[in-house]
Amino acid sequence: MTRLKTDSIVVGRNESLTCAESGVADINADERSQSLPWNDASLIGIAELVCGLGTDLNRGLSSEEAFARLRADGPNELRAVLPVAAWRRALAQLHSPLIYLLVAAAAIALAAWWFEGQGHDGVAAWPLDAIVIVCVILLNASIGWLQDAKATQAVAALAKMTIATSTVLRDGALTRVSNTELVKGDLLVLAEGDAVGADARVAQSSALMVLEASLTGESEAVLKDAALLQGAVALGDRLNMVFKGTAVAQGTGRAIVTATGMQTEVGAIATLLECTQDAPTPLQIEIAYLGKVLGVSVLLISCVVVAIALLISETYSVASVMKVLLMGVSLAVAAVPEGLPAILSVVLAMGVRRMALRHAIVKQLASVETLGSASVIATDKTGTLTRGEMTLQRVMTASGRSDITGVGYAPDGRAERGGIPLTAGILRDELEAVLDAGSLAGNAQLRRDDAGVWAIQGDPTDAAFLVAQYKLKAGAGTTGIDRLERIGEIPFTSHRKMMSVLVADRSNDAAHLLFTKGAPDVLLAHCSHVRRGRATVPLDKTLRSQLVSDVETMAGDALRTLAVSYRKLSPGAQVPADRVQAAALEQNLEYIGAVGIIDPPRIEAAQAIAQASHAGIRVIMITGDHPRTALRVAVDLGIVAIDAPVLTGIEIDALEDADFAVAALTTSVFARVAPSHKLRIVRALQNAGNVVAMTGDGVNDAPALKAADIGVAMGVTGTEVTKEAARMILTDDNFATIVMAVREGRGVLDNICKFLRYLLSSNLAEVLTVFIGLVAAGIIGLKDAASASDSTVVLPLLATQILWINLVTDSGPALALGVDPIDEEVMARTPRARTQRIIDAGMLRSVIETGVVMALLTLATLDLFLPGGLIEPIDLLASQNPFSLEVARTAAFTVLVFTQLFNCFNARSETKSALRGAFSNRWLLVAVLVSLLLQIVVVNDTSLNLAFGTVPMSIAQWSTCVVIASGVLWFSEARKFVRRLHTSFTGLTPKP
Ligand code: ATP
Repeated sequence: MTRLKTDSIVVGRNESLTCAESGVADINADERSQSLPWNDASLIGIAELVCGLGTDLNRGLSSEEAFARLRADGPNELRAVLPVAAWRRALAQLHSPLIYLLVAAAAIALAAWWFEGQGHDGVAAWPLDAIVIVCVILLNASIGWLQDAKATQAVAALAKMTIATSTVLRDGALTRVSNTELVKGDLLVLAEGDAVGADARVAQSSALMVLEASLTGESEAVLKDAALLQGAVALGDRLNMVFKGTAVAQGTGRAIVTATGMQTEVGAIATLLECTQDAPTPLQIEIAYLGKVLGVSVLLISCVVVAIALLISETYSVASVMKVLLMGVSLAVAAVPEGLPAILSVVLAMGVRRMALRHAIVKQLASVETLGSASVIATDKTGTLTRGEMTLQRVMTASGRSDITGVGYAPDGRAERGGIPLTAGILRDELEAVLDAGSLAGNAQLRRDDAGVWAIQGDPTDAAFLVAQYKLKAGAGTTGIDRLERIGEIPFTSHRKMMSVLVADRSNDAAHLLFTKGAPDVLLAHCSHVRRGRATVPLDKTLRSQLVSDVETMAGDALRTLAVSYRKLSPGAQVPADRVQAAALEQNLEYIGAVGIIDPPRIEAAQAIAQASHAGIRVIMITGDHPRTALRVAVDLGIVAIDAPVLTGIEIDALEDADFAVAALTTSVFARVAPSHKLRIVRALQNAGNVVAMTGDGVNDAPALKAADIGVAMGVTGTEVTKEAARMILTDDNFATIVMAVREGRGVLDNICKFLRYLLSSNLAEVLTVFIGLVAAGIIGLKDAASASDSTVVLPLLATQILWINLVTDSGPALALGVDPIDEEVMARTPRARTQRIIDAGMLRSVIETGVVMALLTLATLDLFLPGGLIEPIDLLASQNPFSLEVARTAAFTVLVFTQLFNCFNARSETKSALRGAFSNRWLLVAVLVSLLLQIVVVNDTSLNLAFGTVPMSIAQWSTCVVIASGVLWFSEARKFVRRLHTSFTGLTPKP
């Protein structure tokens, strides 16, 4: 749990706050800024800079001024990659092998029409085939452009959601602005975990340490302060500057923005920046590869088909050769699944959009795939599994236990001992001391708004002390300790697990006091005395073990435990400048007492954990909290059983890698860990083949988040640095959202399988129909029919018919399958292995079987509608519309379209009947209906008849087509039934 930033800055030195105070002549700000050596603001004094940039250290810029500067200088962003104009994207659609093929087809069609003697001897007056192909080119390009635009839009919307923000002082108030809105002269207010949004000159600092590895390669954090540099130095030595793209590791500070956008140091190297959003995902690479392999194979098959067609047709007139060539090219066009990459991007992008609506912002499309394979979720406890709403309920001091009643942030409650109000006595004194010290050693604020609602600002743990103190003093808050003036702070870090505040006692000039609060076990190691009543006693062994056992009892009751201590310092003690000085100050403390804070588990977390374990995903809790508290919460949430092992940070450190590798697989609760342990845990889990999702919020969690397969940052309480390092940001900090995202990820992968199955089997069916149709032309009666009808060439389907099938059946139904509702069963399966391919042997078998059946049904139709062949024509079918080669082709063409429409319902599952929930995807129904209507139009519309070589069919012929095409549905139902039987016998989990 990270604390929220508050205005807790310690002024490191006395600086001029405004230009007037600085004594610098008040000339025009523009003129001043012209005269300053802007290329290196580290050489400019603060006063000069304040004047030069027309800002104010007390109030920052005014909003109007900031707006005007933003308009003049433009947004603070790196333009390494310029956005591609819409017309360029449209043009790019024409730049594809598919379009080249189609252009070749159009040219061949034109040539065929020309050689056939345009407009004479029954040849159309217009090159209809060529016109159809040009229409196909335009339609294909438009569909591609639309899909591309949709995916780009979704990714751009996500990019907007993930823009980092900074705290600045504007109009005298702390304001959170998006980093793109930072302007020169803005006063950045920096705290631990912030990503520095622009280059800025440090004006004030308190132990401000900045990680500059991204810029300078230096891995250690660098201490920053406001001191003026005497001469130009290298970037890494500009200790009074902070730079865009770096991160605050520790401490606080204020800095004046001196450069934004491309003028920043990182802007100078912006061309080196990678644009990760555009990197293809592993799945996209796999699909692109598959597309290429299929493309080449189909081209080869098309060549063979052309050769066979020419051989069988035994006619070599230019016109008939052109016709055969045209069919070959069309076959290649139709059978190459060229729409796959575009559909894949759209489906991934839409999945990402759905997740964003449900509080999970996925920064890269690739993470959707990874989420689908997550096998371990390693999560923080505080605020993620719990609500993060802290109420201090119990206090343990040397004289015993006292309780504070009331829940929430409203200070309604009282102090009690065993149910009786605690108004005076030693225990009451100790209780007051604990709450006073705890409130002083924090940064939160408690306020009541106009509507009378109590709200906190800052860290909820800090706020819990304030609320309890208000209760004790009946709403009077810090009464009695107002004389103490805060001088500085030694900040909390998850590593130290404690924090201190240094105050001066105004009523007693010389006295300086240090109030420290932190994890009891950690704090006790820094204590030498204990407060009892108003006296101080040495902390001996017996007392120490009593205090430890008090804390353990509270932890065992699932309470979050903290202890409070204090120390009187020598007069004039200073805020420590580094770790060594801080450690010296936080010694010989006087232990005042420990508190137990309740942080109720999120109700939805328990359900999500149950869902995760049902889905074969292990949930691991990694927390900085006490081992007993951690175990108790983990048990309450159903992560582990009561006797489960808990591993602490110290124990992890003591383990050798090999032992730790075993422990990581058997332990599900890690407590009192530091962020560095998280990295070790991630690595151990990954080495065992797991795909790990890991949460984090503090700046030191960033390495572990980067190493995890899916780093998850907290959107509300997380630091900017973790948000940058993460692949997913939770806008509600809720564990249940991670499980939802995994479910969505699995759903998206499932849907990808569905449209792959559908598209690949459809394309295979087209190729096989033409190929087998030609090879077996004599057997199915096609050859005889071709010679009888004076047709010079033997073709099962015409070129334009193949192109039509491609247009009608490919895009719509495939896209609709991509947004199929997620099957509840996705969370009943074990996670996919890291190495498992989407297109595996099982999918290939199903694609081949279905493709073959669809092709056979189409060829059977051709045979049925032609005299001769294996199947005798039924007279009834010819009663209204006599048989001819055109009718037979029209029927086969229709059956091929219909089998594909039936097949899109089959493709929704490998095991479940297509009839179950057949109407649950309305997009699919719309797509199928549109395809159906288009097919009716192309068969019945006389003007389209000419272009597509179709003829209207009778009702009996239509019905026959539907019945035959439904064969693919029954075949698939039978296959699924056998699979289900097999599964129920073997007990193996079926694939979707
Ligand atoms: P999680 O890691 O699950 O978010 P956490 O918030 O308990 O849990 P840390 O923030 O690392 O983890 O806190 C570790 C311990 O430090 C806490 O158990 C508590 O004892 C102590 N602690 C937490 N917040 C503060 C604070 N604001 N001041 C002093 N001590 C604190």
